[in-house]
Amino acid sequence: MKKFAIFGNPVVHSKSPQMQNAGFKHINFDGAYEKFLLEDGDKIKKEFLKNSFCGANITVPHKEFAFKNADIVKGIAQKIEAVNTYILEDEKVVAYNTDAPGFLKAIESFGKIDKVLVLGAGGTAKAIALALKEQNIDVTILNRSENRLEFFREFGIKASTFNNFKIEKFDLVVNSTSAGLKDEELPAPKETLENILKYSSFAFDCIYGKKTPFLTLAKSLENKIKDGEDMLLYQGVLAFELFTSTKADNSLVEAMREGLKEK
Ligand code: NDP
Repeated sequence: MKKFAIFGNPVVHSKSPQMQNAGFKHINFDGAYEKFLLEDGDKIKKEFLKNSFCGANITVPHKEFAFKNADIVKGIAQKIEAVNTYILEDEKVVAYNTDAPGFLKAIESFGKIDKVLVLGAGGTAKAIALALKEQNIDVTILNRSENRLEFFREFGIKASTFNNFKIEKFDLVVNSTSAGLKDEELPAPKETLENILKYSSFAFDCIYGKKTPFLTLAKSLENKIKDGEDMLLYQGVLAFELFTSTKADNSLVEAMREGLKEK
């Protein structure tokens, strides 16, 4: 049996085992996927090899450590400098970022998008902004603090704080901050958000499993809204394809979605 895991801290609430194991069952793949609480991110490669995992996912706060510790980094992850998937290939730990293409797949249901505002400047914002930029979509970052904005500017992405932001019309506004995750906060001052959302058509929140204050406000201003469940699902489906060398069809995607609902 092939072994897989999700590394995180905390990891207890992760739905990845249910989702991936449902996928394995659906295609009769002889695999088992478990949670792995990892405290020291710098030990990620050592633990991956020591436990004979064939593949893994990586979640908060280890994505940057996983990037640094990988033998080979492939695709857009090289620019993002954070990875969420490990595969053992020819005894080398090969790393990918499936959050970025998973996000693009999740917003496909909105239709054509030309201009996006991303709220937040953390690891998820990096993945989203670079994925959009690769599709030649115009991206702007808006964050509460200046600290992490230079990363985006180096890629030619506009980035500002609340103080120096000028209101424009965006097709889509994305909340990639953790505001609304464990609290009822908005990701930016209410007045700023209202002025943005009254001109936009779509709003996406990376947070899943709840209707955040951001999505509630966006809906009240007539935006079509979507939470982060599909992003979670599609990053998992793309990782699953790498784990099993199988192309996912609709029935597999739906089996994995059902897996997400399991306790
Ligand atoms: P990070 O900690 O790397 O970044 C968080 C960002 O949010 C920072 O820019 C921070 O600003 C900003 N922020 C935090 N709290 C507030 C607040 N109260 N008001 C305004 N801004 C705030 O987190 P990640 O990028 O890893 O994750 C962000 C969110 O995305 C989480 O909620 C996570 O659950 C979700 N996520 C969902 C995924 C999915 O598959 N659906 C995948 C990955 C993440 P500052 O720079 O000033 O500190």
